[in-house]
This record gives sequence, C-alpha cells and structure tokens, in this order.
Amino acid sequence: MTYKGKKIYAYSDVISPRSWVVEEKGWDPKQQGVRETQFTLGNGYLCSRGVLEEIPYDAYAGTYIGGIYDATGAQITELVNLPNPINFRIDAYGEKIGLVAMDHLYHRRTLDMHRGTLYRHTIYKTTHKKRIDYRSRRFVSMHDKRLMVMEIELTPLDSDMTINIITSIDTGVSNKGVLTEGRKHHFQPLEVFTQANIHYICVETFEKKLNIAYASALEICRRNRCRIVAERAMNIRVRKNETITFRKFMVMRSTRHIKPSEIRRSTISLLKAARRRGFDRLIEEHEKAWMERWKITNVDIDGDPEAARALRFNIYHLTIAGNKEDDDISVGARTLSDEGYRGHVFWDTEIFILPFFIYTNPRIAKNLLMYRFHRLNAARHNAAARGYKGALFPWESADTGQECTPSWAKNFDGTIIKIVTMDQEHHIVADIAYAVAQYCMATGDWAFMCKEGMEIMAETARFWVSRVTHNAKKNRYEIHNVMGPDEFHEGVDNNAYTNGMARWNLLTAAEWYARLKRNYPKTLNRLARRIKLNPSEVAKWRKIGDRIFMPVSTKRKLIEPFQGFFRLKEHRITHLDAHLMPILPGTVAWEEIGKTQLIKQADVVMLMYLLGHCFTPAQKSNNYYFNEKRTLHKSSLSPAIHAIVGLQIGDEDKGVHYFSNALSADLNNIHGNTTEGIHAASAGGCWQAAIMGFAGMHHNDDILAFDPHLCRSWKEMRFCVMWRGCRLRVVISQSRTEICLEKRTRRGKIEVEVYGKRQELKPGAFVNFPAPTPSRKR
Ligand code: BGC
Repeated sequence: MTYKGKKIYAYSDVISPRSWVVEEKGWDPKQQGVRETQFTLGNGYLCSRGVLEEIPYDAYAGTYIGGIYDATGAQITELVNLPNPINFRIDAYGEKIGLVAMDHLYHRRTLDMHRGTLYRHTIYKTTHKKRIDYRSRRFVSMHDKRLMVMEIELTPLDSDMTINIITSIDTGVSNKGVLTEGRKHHFQPLEVFTQANIHYICVETFEKKLNIAYASALEICRRNRCRIVAERAMNIRVRKNETITFRKFMVMRSTRHIKPSEIRRSTISLLKAARRRGFDRLIEEHEKAWMERWKITNVDIDGDPEAARALRFNIYHLTIAGNKEDDDISVGARTLSDEGYRGHVFWDTEIFILPFFIYTNPRIAKNLLMYRFHRLNAARHNAAARGYKGALFPWESADTGQECTPSWAKNFDGTIIKIVTMDQEHHIVADIAYAVAQYCMATGDWAFMCKEGMEIMAETARFWVSRVTHNAKKNRYEIHNVMGPDEFHEGVDNNAYTNGMARWNLLTAAEWYARLKRNYPKTLNRLARRIKLNPSEVAKWRKIGDRIFMPVSTKRKLIEPFQGFFRLKEHRITHLDAHLMPILPGTVAWEEIGKTQLIKQADVVMLMYLLGHCFTPAQKSNNYYFNEKRTLHKSSLSPAIHAIVGLQIGDEDKGVHYFSNALSADLNNIHGNTTEGIHAASAGGCWQAAIMGFAGMHHNDDILAFDPHLCRSWKEMRFCVMWRGCRLRVVISQSRTEICLEKRTRRGKIEVEVYGKRQELKPGAFVNFPAPTPSRKR
C-alpha cells in the first residue's frame, strides 16, 4: 500500500493518534447499525454510511445527497436512500469473504477523524484454515465533493488463492419503513452502460423526477502496476504473500445541481479527471481539505483526552453535515447519516447546529439561513392556511418548505400516538428569527440582515401578532394551545419558552427595524415597500412584545413552565440508568406523563440559555434546580443545554455530568437509536457546551465576551472562533485567557471582553487576561 506516493506496510503507520480516532475492535453484529452511523463518511453534499463493504446480513447501506427528497403516493416526503456504490462480493478459495460468512482471527476498523478516512484490517480464516489478510480504506472526498474512493487489499498468507470479485452500484436499496409503511423504493434506473472502462448508471426518483448519476471505474494493482478494468465480475489468481489491490473511484451527481442534458457528460468527465489525478493525489487533496477544516474547528482540551476525542467525534459529524456550496439545503435532525426523522429539518438546526457554523464557517451558517429564506413563501402560505399572518415555518421541513410532520409516531413505550407538534410547536418561528439575529451579530453581515434577515424578522413578528390572544381584563397578551420543547405537555397555555421567545422575536424585529432605518434607510425602505411594512406596524410589535405574559410565581420565585404546571402531580425521579440518566418512575405510565410535572427537556432552562441576559443569577439557579429535578432528558437535545446553564450557575458537577452525557450520545449509543443516525442537535449542543459553557463565550451586542468556567481537571482549552470576519485563537487555562486575532478579512476595531475587562485586539499578538482570584470570580 502507498501513502503520499510512498510504500507503507500497515495503516497504523499513517493513522492519527488515539484522540483523533474512533475504533471498532473486534466484530459485534449487534453493534453493526451503530458503527455504520458512527463511521459515516461525507462532505455536506454526499454522505455514505460506514457499512462493511461485503454488506453482511443486516447491514444498512445508506447513501444520501443533501436535498434529495421524494415521496410516492400518500407517503411522507423523505430523504432518499440512493443506490449504494460501496458493495463488494469477494470469494476466496470458493468461500465468501465477510465477517458473517467467514471466521476471522483479527478485525479492526478505524475512523480517522483527522483525515476523514475509514480504515479496516481483518484477517480471515477459511474453513480450510487458509489465512487471508484483508485491508481497506475509504473516503468521501472533502476536496472534490462528488467523489468517493474505496481501496481493498488482499493477501493470501498461506497458499496461492483464486478470488472472484463482483462490485456494482446496488440499485436494490430502499428506504426503511416507519410504522406500517414497509420499505420504500424511491427511484428507477434510467440508463446503464459501460464505455471505455467506465460504468455509468443514472436513476430517476419517482415523484420529483430528479436524476442521480453514478460513474465508476475499477482499478487493479499488482506488482507495482495499476490498470483500469472493464469487468465488474472476474476471477483472479493471487500468489501466496502477493498483495492485490482493488480501487473503485465513484462520482455522483444529481439534477439538483446540473441540467439533465448535461449530467451524463459531466459525471463521466469528473470521474475521468479523478482517475487521471490518481489515488495518491486524491487522498492527499482530501486530507488537506480536512486539515484545513480542523484548523478552525478543532477544540483541544489538555487534561481530558477522552473528552477531546468525544468532542472531535461530534465536530466531525457536524462538519460532514454542512454544505458550503449549496444554500438550498439544510441539516436534518440525523444529518445525512441515516433516515431517522426521514431526513427532516427541525428547530434543531437553528438553535443547536447553526452556532457551530456561525463561529467556524459562517458561509455554511448563511446557507442554512438561506434555506429558510427560500422557503419564506411556503411559510407564509402555511400561516395563511391556518388563519395566521406572517410566516409559520413548518415544524418538520424537507425540500418544499411545506409542513411534513407525520401524523403518527411511536411513543417511548412502543405504542402509536397522534402527533400534534406541527400544530403546536410554534416556537420554531421565533427560533429561526433568533438564529438570524445570532448570525448577523457574530458575522456583521449587515447585507444579509438588510435583505433576507429583516424579511424573516418581519414575517415572524407578524406571525406572533396574529398568534397572541389579548387578555383585556389583565391587559396582557397570551399564547394559548401550544407545546414547548417539552413535548410531554400538549395544548398548554402561556408556555414560558414560547412566550419568552415570541416576546424576544417581536421586540428584536422592532429593534432591527430601527437600526436598519438609521443605518441603511434606502434598503430598508425598499424592503418595507415590498412587504408593506410601516412604522405603525412596528410600533405594534413593540407594544405586544412588551406585554406578553410570562408566568412567574412570586411566591416560589419560579417561572412556571406553563400555566397550570405547578398544579400537576409531582413525582420524584429516583432511578438512573447505566449512563446515569433518569428513568421514568415506575408509578407513572407513559400515557399519563402529561398529567405530571415530569419534563422531556426543560423549556425554562432552554429559555435561560438563549436569553441569558434577561435573568438574574439567582433566578437562573432557582429555576435550573427546580427543572433539573423533573427532567427525564428524553430528548437528546436536553443534556448539553443542562451542561451550559449548570456551568453558568457555577455548578461544575452538573456541567461535567451533562457534558459527558451529551458527548457520548452517539459514541456510546446512549439513546439506543444511533443506528437511525447521528443526533445532530446533540452534536451541536456539545460544541456549544464546550465553547459557550466551559469557555463561557457569549456576546453583548457588538462585543464578543468570555467568562470561562474551565473544568478543574482541565489544564488548558484551545480553539478558534470566527467573529466579524476575523479568526480569533483562544487559549484558556486555570490562570488566564489569551486571545489572538489571527486572520482578518475586514477592517474595523475588534474588542473582546474577558472576565468583564474589555480590550482591543491587534493582529498577530496575544492579549493576556489574568483570571480573577476565586473570591473575585464572577
Ligand atoms: C425533540 C425535538 C426535536 C426532535 C428532532 C424530539 O424528540 O423533542 O425537540 O426537535 O426530536 O431531534
């Protein structure tokens, strides 16, 4: 095998250190689905689950291109599982090679996150006790987004062997069935041919008529000579100790990005170009692109290598979910690592995932917001259809922007329940507006705010004006019949999270209107004319926003999660599971959960995180403990936020406990359903827990601030963030915080505030902020 043109003897010669890898040591068929998700390779455009290439029994090959959704008949629109190019049937000595079919003496797979490459080494033993050394490596190029490459090396260790190899693009794959649906096939082949050793296949989806084309080439290398072969099935004789290498180059394109008339030519010519560059160069380009990404996304934690590794795992999966080139797709709740939640996009993207991109790759963050902007009209229709004004974004979104939440789902106890989230989780409207404001503050992208951002702000504010109910007796505005993020309680009135965020949405839209009027009056006027917005309407946003009711019990000094919550039955959470997470008390049945004070994920804690400046430390602390005692964390979104607010109130134990829980959500399959894909929101929450929690990053309007709460056992934390077009390097230790302005793309003064002290940053020099002594620590 070669690496960067040089011969290497084992992958271990090139694999990154332990803190950069995730390994499968040995073969456990029960873990197969989990590993496939964990080992997903991708680049934001294309992802491929980490299936074993022999596709053992029960394997689930998943190949996804962002934005390719389809539905047939009465089905719900879903991310399409596309034909699988990673499949190899190899027989040796007449026996099928594969972990299920053949005995093995050794097996290890390694996802090298630093290189975005999946390595494998298996030593097989046939029924006649012949050993075969089997190695493979695979990558989905981060450099050339349409390219995937797979290499397999076989060496017979005991005698000459005859192998039979077959590889193709498997069009037999389908989408998993949910509930009673059964498996679903979303495409049919349109064209298949082989020309000049290149195999070409194009399929078309049933509903949207999207074409997806594959071009592939197979190369065989022996005794330092490589050649492309036309066959996809062949018999080959290999001598004892001779290594034979197969390399499959695959290119995938779709008519989402290219005209149908050009897809064949373009796909084939991309493949030819890749082939010309050759395996070594392709891997080099791919790795270089990964290293560039890590330069800005990596978070080093000295003193806790396991946490650093787990955090990298989460960052790795966020990285392969974000697309820099496409502003018409978003990140689904389970990324492109499986079909969980049918590839739909939730508030998870704006509140949990987006911050990672805002601060590491603002172009991707903007694309995610543009995805919503392109669907603003659909959201306007959605609002109008339900009797509201403005824009009501769908609770679950796919390609068109129409609501696509299914009506039925499985509850935690396996029973089938009716879903009302699409009618009640209207907080998504404010969540999207919140994301717009966050993006603009961090990037200073006023051009976006003037055009797309303000339009989203205005239409979301308009929604709330039509959604609130005026309580004339109490002279306040209320919001009835909603569901907050805590989905255990349906149809509640005055949910703290929804009311708080709606209030924020109305007031912030008014503030941005005023700000743009001051600074960009012409652009604002153009927008105002187009969407018929006038100052009296904005005044109404202020008036309503100011009077939105927040249920607070003065007696208990607590925010009531929604009206009537305090009257519900209290149950003590007494038992924890193997991951030290709460278990539903035995006395409560799932169908009765709405009558109790048990919480799925805490609305009030979430609100205190997003709108931290609105709460005093005492309020934060009281409300945190009240909610934490009642929260079952039955949503993977919950722990990371509990970590952050725990740290903010100075409870390091809670911070560390929930952080490690969030970190291992998919690394240790804590929720039992990693096989359905990576919990993207939890991954984004992990990054936020590290940066907003332990490093205490936040912003006071135009100033980026840090109030570190470094864990006692950590020596140092190092990371980069993008702020207003500048790259800042941050180093936090127990005794100080140092910040350096590394790179800038815009002029202007950059000030930061650390431990409450403000200072201007100058390019290239570290500014040192000594940590206050514990008694002075705020
Ligand atoms: C959570 C939602 C989340 C969804 C998708 C649900 O279990 O309660 O808040 O948006 O999963 O991740």
